[in-house]
Amino acid sequence: MKLAERINRMATSSTFVMAAKAQELKAQGIDVISLSLGEPDFCTPEHIKRAAVEAIDNNFTYYAPVPGYMDLRKAVAAKLKRENGLEYNPTDILVSTGGKQALCNVILSILDKDDECILPTPCWVSYSEMVKLAEAEPVFVPCGIEDGFKLTAAKLRAAITPDTRAILLCSPSNPSGSVYSREELAALVAVLEEYPQIMIISDEIYEHINYVGTHNSIAQFPSVKDRVVIVNGVSKAYAMTGWRIGWAAAAPWVIKAAQKLQGQYTSCTCTIAMKAAQAAYEGPQDCVAEMLEAFRRRRDLVVRLASKVPGFEICVPDGAFYLFPKCDSLYGRKYMANDGTEKIIGGSDDLAMYLLEYAHVASVGGDAFMAPECIRFSYAASDEALTEAFARIKAAVMKLY
Ligand code: PMP
Ligand code: GLU
Repeated sequence: MKLAERINRMATSSTFVMAAKAQELKAQGIDVISLSLGEPDFCTPEHIKRAAVEAIDNNFTYYAPVPGYMDLRKAVAAKLKRENGLEYNPTDILVSTGGKQALCNVILSILDKDDECILPTPCWVSYSEMVKLAEAEPVFVPCGIEDGFKLTAAKLRAAITPDTRAILLCSPSNPSGSVYSREELAALVAVLEEYPQIMIISDEIYEHINYVGTHNSIAQFPSVKDRVVIVNGVSKAYAMTGWRIGWAAAAPWVIKAAQKLQGQYTSCTCTIAMKAAQAAYEGPQDCVAEMLEAFRRRRDLVVRLASKVPGFEICVPDGAFYLFPKCDSLYGRKYMANDGTEKIIGGSDDLAMYLLEYAHVASVGGDAFMAPECIRFSYAASDEALTEAFARIKAAVMKLY
């Protein structure tokens, strides 16, 4: 018996692996502070939950059309107009089971075997695995802390080959928290204008968690808009990770293709969650602003605390809820393990495991994000938990020799 090569080639999602490890230790009664999986720690707002209950009571329990209820697609198109100044027809929106499925639908729809997809790194764990699933080639372009973890026009130009078919941008970024300004996007657009064959996938799932101003979408540049695919959803903005609603907005030929794919392997997504998502977009937006303020306070707190950890170099995140310190100066340091043997921190995964076992703080090593010099901490946790976590991290790092 054998598994398919596409599965053998695929890495397991490290974010969920670390979350599961933290859970295992917690089940053993160990007080683990989990800063691994990135998800808002807030409850879904009450009016959104009510909409779901009403959806059940009103029997929205049958299959919906493959691309989602038209009312939700209209609510998403209205959001794009209201918040981003972008015109999309409701039929240009495909609702999927999370932004994750929306991304995967699009990648499988536009990339062929051996096509290249540019991934500026650090990048989120799932991009490269989705590109590989399409039998295409991820082309990693390292963008270090000295560039604020952002792609420059020069690096983009250097990465383009005749096989380049797509680029995947994420702003605000997971894992670095960096946010592209309008000027930075304009510089990338100027290069992309020369290459009309390149599709631009823009992951905007952290749109509302932005500490430096209003969100800029690359789709706002008319010269490239018709080849931008926006991927977004309700998980992060409305604390709805478990509801699994995301969407893609793009030109009709992309949406139709992604819809065909989705129609064969998931049909529509959950009808009750779609009704809740519609309430999220159409209801009061104060909840979004309130969560943003809490994230901003925590960002300031973790930046202050992590700056005191010897060996951590911090790039202050402008968005999302991750801190991504550069920590490679700690590699090569040693510690005395509980079994009495001397162990060495060989890289970011070792550091993440050391912090889990000896500080009881779960994080995710930078290897998973193609940035082995860094480590990721989600700060979507209470102020108390964050304060305690960084005290433990500092103490554990100070024990390294
Ligand atoms: N893109 C990025 C960068 C993310 O961090 C996430 C969250 N895991 C997603 C997309 C997808 O989120 P969801 O499937 O919950 O909508
Ligand atoms: N976005 C979160 C993270 O990166 C959720 C986990 C995932 O989907 O990978 O931790």
